[in-house]
Amino acid sequence: MTRVAVIGAGISGVVAASKLQKLGYQVDLFEKSRGRGGRMSTRRLGWADVDTGAQYFTARSDEFKAEVERWLSTGDISQWEFTPQKAIDGQLVSSPDTETRYVAMPSMSSLARQYAKDLNLYLNRRIVSASQKPRSSSKNAQWTINDESGQEWGPYQWLVSSLPGDQAKQLFSEHHDIAARLPRQSHLPCWAVALVTRGEVDPGIQGVFGGDMVSWVSRLSAKPGRSLPEDGDDLWLLHFQHLWSKSRGKDCSEQVLQEGVEWMKKHLGPALTIHHHYIHYWRYAQVSPQCQLSGPIVWPEQHIAFIGDWTAGGRVEGAYLSAVQLVEHYFSHNRMREVSTPD
Ligand code: FAD
Ligand code: NAD
Repeated sequence: MTRVAVIGAGISGVVAASKLQKLGYQVDLFEKSRGRGGRMSTRRLGWADVDTGAQYFTARSDEFKAEVERWLSTGDISQWEFTPQKAIDGQLVSSPDTETRYVAMPSMSSLARQYAKDLNLYLNRRIVSASQKPRSSSKNAQWTINDESGQEWGPYQWLVSSLPGDQAKQLFSEHHDIAARLPRQSHLPCWAVALVTRGEVDPGIQGVFGGDMVSWVSRLSAKPGRSLPEDGDDLWLLHFQHLWSKSRGKDCSEQVLQEGVEWMKKHLGPALTIHHHYIHYWRYAQVSPQCQLSGPIVWPEQHIAFIGDWTAGGRVEGAYLSAVQLVEHYFSHNRMREVSTPD
């Protein structure tokens, strides 16, 4: 049976691993964190469960729309129906549109958890190196990988990386032929701030498109299926604009918190009080505008593939489609089994 290692258990990694396993490949999935979901993540903080990465997703392609319909029918996702607001000169202005927005249920990480439930998933396993023997593009070349504890895994006939491009480039830095072909600076960063507030806020305010500093605000406690936080009336999540986040860097959490609280009081009411907060710096958040790829990067002769949002237009939809395209174009119909070694 052909053995495949998938590195990274974000939405692209779990979808690829699950589809490969269904096709009969023997798959091991490695994740550096203690949970699945990657940037579709939910932090369990005691006082609330907080979606800190992707807040919602949309569906533009027919292929993703069909999958979204399936997720709706199984209750894995729900529509989040609200009229967006736009922050203009310190005021919130209603900004209606016709977009349909979805959230995973009951938290953003639930979708990846659902996909990963029957997989050989190894959490807390940061993969730090990969080597292929023989090094050439021999038909029998096999991959082994090492995690940071020094444990070696493999051999695998195929490696699938679902890491953000910059992290993939770093992981394969010793494989100059591979690293040189991966893009530089695939992602821009984003500061995220979660706040539990007390004080009355118009129930119609659920999602706000911001400006040059705070780019988006979610009322997390109003998303479908979520519960109210302990010790507060509402739970909010603010995302800071990428160029603002990049220019400030990762060592300014106090400033970010202060700016976030000031934004809330200015736009939602000076009487709001803050009862809990959480801050997170996403180093690899949004795909850079210069990273323009239209599908997974695959080198069949080296038995290696790169998927993830950066390979397919960004966002949850791109991440999902990159995994489906990889499996359908390169692994379906037993095409790749030609490279397998006997059981
Ligand atoms: P990831 O989710 O990044 O998965 C990669 C996984 O690899 C991670 O779990 C990581 O821990 C793991 N990993 C990394 N290095 C290693 C290693 N060495 N060994 C093992 N594991 C490793 N998209 C939308 O559609 N709508 C939104 O509203 C939205 N908002 C966003 C807000 C923020 C703050 C962020 C950060 C992202 C947002 N996105 C949004 C983008 C969306 O979250 C991503 O496009 C999508 O989740 C990416 O999935 P992925 O599988 O490509 O990558
Ligand atoms: P979307 O269509 O809701 O938003 C796309 C963009 O269009 C928004 O960023 C906003 O600038 C604009 N927009 C849409 N509706 C608007 C309205 N009613 N009023 C004013 N402006 C409006 O969703 P999408 O294309 O699926 O993108 C997903 C969301 O994820 C976007 O908001 C994007 O910025 C966000 N995202 C954030 C990060 C991050 O790191 N913070 C990373 C990836 C994606």
